[in-house]
This record gives sequence, structure tokens and C-alpha cells, in this order.
Amino acid sequence: MRSLADLDAQGKRVLVRVDFNVPLRDGKITDDTRIRAALPTIEELRARGARIVLVSHLGRPKGADAALSLRPVAERLGELTGTDVLFIADGVGESARAAVDALEPGQIALLENIRFEAGETKNDPDLAKALAELCDIYVNDAFGSAHRAHSSTEGITYHVKDAAAGLLLEREVAQLSAILADPARPLVAVLGGAKVTDKIAVIERFLEIADTVLIGGAMCFPFFAVEGHGVGASMCEAEGLEPAREALEGAASARAELVLPQDLGLAERYAADAPRRDLDGVDVPDGWMGLDIGPRSAETYSKLIAEGATIFWNGPMGVFEFEAFAAGTRAVAEAVARANGTTVVGGGDSAAALTQFGLADQVTHLSTGGGATLELLEGRTLPGVAALR
Ligand code: AMP
Repeated sequence: MRSLADLDAQGKRVLVRVDFNVPLRDGKITDDTRIRAALPTIEELRARGARIVLVSHLGRPKGADAALSLRPVAERLGELTGTDVLFIADGVGESARAAVDALEPGQIALLENIRFEAGETKNDPDLAKALAELCDIYVNDAFGSAHRAHSSTEGITYHVKDAAAGLLLEREVAQLSAILADPARPLVAVLGGAKVTDKIAVIERFLEIADTVLIGGAMCFPFFAVEGHGVGASMCEAEGLEPAREALEGAASARAELVLPQDLGLAERYAADAPRRDLDGVDVPDGWMGLDIGPRSAETYSKLIAEGATIFWNGPMGVFEFEAFAAGTRAVAEAVARANGTTVVGGGDSAAALTQFGLADQVTHLSTGGGATLELLEGRTLPGVAALR
């Protein structure tokens, strides 16, 4: 994979695919982490006199949609870089071409939401070509979109002379690949979240390569159900039963030990103000639902995390959005933050949880990817990464 360092960027038009898919409320950016994550690549290219064209998607628009315009991102990026960012509002065409050609070295332009173009998610070669015409060099720094073969993440690479990975994408791939390649042991994987079907491939992978796999979140109920425990009114994905059964069977001969919670935090309803009752054991009575792992499990998981030399964490241990049911997720977050080993946290809700607990800067690597992070760890080839080889 080529790097920024391999490029001769001075005076060149460099199109950088970034991931500016930020959360918006009433047109205001509520979290600019993703914009900040792209700054090292942008600043490096500016310092080297590149003429920078940024391309990103935002949300899932069906055609042009003012509520999903990247204009507020251009403003925020201008504040963060201390320079005016030219916003190109009218899509990929002649006027975009003219605007880009007029950029000075070190100047930055941002194209409107690339998913306003119908061809983007279809990896339309005409759109890929039109994008390629806006640049001399293509750089992909959008790790969070690297698992998608779209015109701006994959197709464009067939039409440019030179392509390279941005600093963020390169670091993501290096950190995550190191877990698979040659991790310091013990390798401990902590996997939680809502649906076992979303994570089953990652669970199976870690059963083969890790030393310990700790399971939490609603994801544990399909496991408990196939073990014959009552799950009460807990969220228990029906399609998750068969995968959970297979994972349990596979675990018997796998390298890793599969660890499920031994106690649970229960509620009678799914609500922030529902009183919590801790259950010593995992047989959830009728009318109750498990919304967190219990205190004994939290302690066991924290101890196993502390013993890890490499720790990967993805997915909350319970409904951490409700204060009364955040304890298990907080315990895991704190144990990961405290651990002496290399700690890598998968994006999405685990990142949100770490940020909520003020621990986001206390891990070795906080991944910006969700689906991309999991797919890479499953051992799948990411089209956006493969295209840079
Ligand atoms: P995921 O996107 O699969 O990582 O799932 C994250 C979501 O799972 C969070 O919004 C949690 O509130 C939710 N979650 C975790 N544990 C539970 C549970 N025991 N019951 C219901 N929802 C849960």
C-alpha cells in the first residue's frame, strides 16, 4: 500500500476521500471527532503544497437533500484548519472542475455530499471517471467507508495514475492487522452489543486466534437460550440462536476460552428510570429483562482484561445509555483504559461509551470504523484498501 510519503504532491490536485459522516442536529455538528481524525492527512498535504479536494458522504440520502449537506462541515473544517474551505455545492461536473483547477497550492475544497450522486453507491464507472478528472492523485483516508466498493472509495482508483492511503487509514489498517498477525499474548477480545448476527463472524474469528473471548450485551441471550436458561423479556434475537449454538459447539475445540456473564442486571421494563435488580445467575425470570452484566461478571471481565497483553473491545455490555445499566460497560471501559497491554477499541458504541466515561484518550487505538473495523478483523478484504495496492 502506498503512503503519503511516497507521493510527489507539490502543486498537484490531490483528491482525498475522507469520512465526514458526522452526527448533525438541526444543521449543527454535535460531534466533530471524524473531522479531527482527518486533519493529520489534510495538514500534511497542505504543508507539502498540494491543492486539496475533499470528498465524503454524509448519511444515506436518496438524491440531493439539504438536511444532509456537507456545508456545515466545510465551515467547521475552516475553523479547525484556520483557513477558508471552498465549498463546491453543485456536484461533480464542469463547474467543480473549474473550481478545483483554480485552487492554489495549500488550498482546500470540499465537494458536496457524494451520495447526492446516484452512481456513488453503485460504484458507477462514469462517476468514478468524473471524480478522477478532478485530480492528479487520489488518497483514501476514509477507513470507515473502506468496506464499501463505491465510486469514491474503489472505482476511482482505476482511473487515476497515482493512489495512496491517508495517515488515518494507514494507521487503522496497521493497528487492526497487528491484532490478527502477531499479537502479544494473552489476546483478550471483549465483544458486546445488541445482535449476535452482526458479530458472529468476529466472535468465530477470535475464538480461533484469541486466548479469551468475553461476551456481553444483549448478544449473550441467544447463548443462554440455547444453553437452556430462561431469558424472560430480554432482547434475544431469534436469528441469533443457530449462530450462537454453532459458536458454542465450536468453542469446545477452539483456541480461546469463551466466557459468558455469570450474573445480570435486570429491569421490569426498558426505561432509563426502571429500578435495577441484580440477579446472581443468568436464569431471567418471566417479566424481567437483562439490561446489563452483573457485578461479579464485571469484576471477572475486568480481571481478565487486566491480564491481557493485547485487548480488543467492541460493543457495550448493556444498555449503557441508561445510567442504572451502564455499570458493566463502565467497568470494561475502565479496565481497558487501565490495562498495560495494547488496547484497541472498535468504533461505534464502544467509542461513544469511552467518550461518555472520559476515557477516549486512554487507549492505544480508538478505531473510527464500525463495519470496516469488524470486517477487517473477520479477515475479509476491504475493497477500499485492496484498491490501493
Ligand atoms: P451494537 O450496535 O450491536 O454494538 O449494539 C449497541 C446497542 O446495544 C446499544 O445501544 C445498547 O443499548 C444495546 N444493548 C446492549 N445490551 C443490551 C441489552 N441487554 N438489552 C437491550 N439492548 C442492549
